[in-house]
Amino acid sequence: MAREKPLFDRVALIGLGLIGSSLSHIMRREHLAGHIAGNARSQATRDKAVELGLVDSIHASPAEAVEGVDLVVLCVPVGACGPIAAEIETHLKPGAILTDVGSVKQAVIRDVGPHVPPGVHFMPGHPIAGTEHSGPESGFAELFTDRWCILTPLEGSDAAALEKLKQFWQACGSQVDIMDPNHHDKVLAITSHLPHLIAYNIVATAADVESVTESEVIKYSAGGFRDFTRLAASDPTMWRDVFLNNKEAVLEMLARFSEDLSALQRAIRWGDGQKLFDLFARSRAARRDIIEAGQETAKPDFGREH
Ligand code: NAP
Repeated sequence: MAREKPLFDRVALIGLGLIGSSLSHIMRREHLAGHIAGNARSQATRDKAVELGLVDSIHASPAEAVEGVDLVVLCVPVGACGPIAAEIETHLKPGAILTDVGSVKQAVIRDVGPHVPPGVHFMPGHPIAGTEHSGPESGFAELFTDRWCILTPLEGSDAAALEKLKQFWQACGSQVDIMDPNHHDKVLAITSHLPHLIAYNIVATAADVESVTESEVIKYSAGGFRDFTRLAASDPTMWRDVFLNNKEAVLEMLARFSEDLSALQRAIRWGDGQKLFDLFARSRAARRDIIEAGQETAKPDFGREH
């Protein structure tokens, strides 16, 4: 049943790409905002957002977009959060909630924190939901359905504001977890950042292998390569910012990964079939667990139509 009164009177979406536009769709469907004010960097994105009906008002400056707003969501690459926070700081309404959706949390807290005026509730967040597409046309209302959203509130945060933001994400279809930002960055380094780095790297390696032509790499990609290309097709700006801003955790996980890779290399060299079999058998169980947790389809070949 549609709610009678919106959860927030005015919401500002700063950044109108995949995440910003998906938030707009779900806010419209669930009647979560009385008014959606939007801002994006380029005129082209602002025009598209108006054409798609993503916003009730569009603003060339983020400072103008946040005037009188109750919930501000920064939906821009991690590295852009700090400069935007500096621009909006004196325009935020007392009592407003300021949140973000960035894939790294400690860096956002470091960069945005100093610009949060007293009386504004800064509640960093990260929806664990995405696709390889970007831009205002890529969003859809179901993106957050049955996914997790991690909130990393700062010490001494306002409990009522946190509860309201939790309600917001739950109304978007997500389950909410509360986490320490340092822990968040470690968890995401292994579950998201490292897999993307490996995918970017394998695509680059395949492009460089001289004894296999590029057309063969494409032609026979169903052998496994194409599943990496989905991750490696993600937005380059977003991922550049993730690696620059989650350096320590990514390097820590990468070191462990490299050690394990060396062990695998040795097992192949010395014909240690048992070691290979045991590791592959354990990996299979991990996929079963992900399906059971409702985070992936059980259909063969990722549910692709044949
Ligand atoms: P996106 O589709 O590429 O959209 C990014 C938006 O930010 C665009 O509106 C863009 O404006 C604006 N922008 C880019 N650089 C900017 C800058 N320097 N200053 C001001 N605005 C800028 O990206 P997205 O996938 O929605 O990602 C947004 C955030 O969500 C990122 O922090 C990312 O880490 C996080 N996130 C992404 C995913 C995912 O799978 N994609 C999942 C969870 C969280 P223009 O269009 O005008 O350039």
